[in-house]
Amino acid sequence: MLEVNNIEVVYHPYILVLKGISIEVPEKSIVAVLGPNGAGKTTLLKAVSGLVKLDRGRVTKGYISYMGERIENRDPEDVSRRGIIYVVEGRRIFRELTVEENIEAVAYAWRSRRPDPELVYKYFPRLRAKRGTRAGYLSGGEQQMLAIGLALLARPRLLLLDEPSLGLAPKVVSEVYESVKRMHEEEGVTILLAEQNARKALEIADYGYIIENGRIVLEGPAERLREDKDVKEFYLGVK
Ligand code: ATP
Repeated sequence: MLEVNNIEVVYHPYILVLKGISIEVPEKSIVAVLGPNGAGKTTLLKAVSGLVKLDRGRVTKGYISYMGERIENRDPEDVSRRGIIYVVEGRRIFRELTVEENIEAVAYAWRSRRPDPELVYKYFPRLRAKRGTRAGYLSGGEQQMLAIGLALLARPRLLLLDEPSLGLAPKVVSEVYESVKRMHEEEGVTILLAEQNARKALEIADYGYIIENGRIVLEGPAERLREDKDVKEFYLGVK
């Protein structure tokens, strides 16, 4: 479905951040991109979604192909129209609006796709009781749930999730991940996930890539990465 082939990404004026990255995301899979802070995970998702442009960045080498078409360096609107929806790090929601108003506003924006507002509550049932609450007053976990739920309204074929576990308590992370897995299974959404939380990501992913300093240093099926000695030591905190 998605092929990223040996891309380099440079930010203005000349900061080389991705130094030849290749990944593949088969249809109906969950693929995780793991690695420490600053490794280039967000830049990779931004390169796929076209958002790297808004940060004065560019794919300067290699290509990105989605459903057989080249999409590197396209405008973000062009990419999202194709069904690639990016849930950015840090929960972009309308903080002044209630949960319900957030859903209405985003459903309106995607009205041409006939969004189903109920989908948000179907996968994140705890938001139903909070429908009248201003989004800015929700807990961090609920804000993350709302951000992912709003992305569903665009009827994504490929969902890009950036650090959904960021700043959340372990129990809440599990809740978010369970919903993501259920969404993947029941809606057939393909997922590309960037995470520092390797343990959680490898629980739901089929395949994983580890990025360090703009390069892939290790890749493999999730079950193999979970058993890998270096992954265990450096990313799962197991000696
Ligand atoms: P994090 O988890 O902190 O988001 P990450 O792995 O997603 O880390 P990126 O955000 O992709 O990493 O950042 C990779 C590198 O690119 C960092 O060194 C960062 O400082 C640099 N970088 C990111 N955005 C820009 C920009 N707009 N201009 C210049 N450098 C940038």
